[in-house]
Amino acid sequence: MALRVVVFDVGETLVNEAATYERWHAESATKFVFAERDLHSDALPCLAALRTRGLRLGAAGNMYAHHEEFLRPHVDFVGSSERWGVQKPDTEFFARVVEAAAAPAGEILYVGDRVDNDVSPALAAGLRAIRVRRGAHADVESPPGIVTIGSLQELPEALDRV
Ligand SMILES: [Mg+2]
Repeated sequence: MALRVVVFDVGETLVNEAATYERWHAESATKFVFAERDLHSDALPCLAALRTRGLRLGAAGNMYAHHEEFLRPHVDFVGSSERWGVQKPDTEFFARVVEAAAAPAGEILYVGDRVDNDVSPALAAGLRAIRVRRGAHADVESPPGIVTIGSLQELPEALDRV
């Protein structure tokens, strides 16, 4: 089966969470909204590189529904735990991802920073998975056999390994 869709977790995968929380704190933010500068610097170049390969792209994570607005211009579809009413690592979350991706589970890759919340449940739901090891959970070892990358810059060439 050919890979057709790549779906990204949001916190620490596309968005630099630690820096964003610092910004919100510094600005005494009362409404927590992402901005372009909150994205990891490798996020948009990675999306562009995958697009040139003809892949359909999505972003879905455990987050407020209003974050979908920020992500929508960058991908083909978005999803949030708040709108779907279900959170990772629940299998139902990944069933929603498959539905939104409009492709068989085996043709969808989920990319996330966490083994417990992203990679393991995605694989259990029949999706493919790649872990980007960074952020607050970077110290956690990937189980054997899990394709693990250090940044999204490495993602395009890692696609051949899942
Ligand atoms: Mg995350």
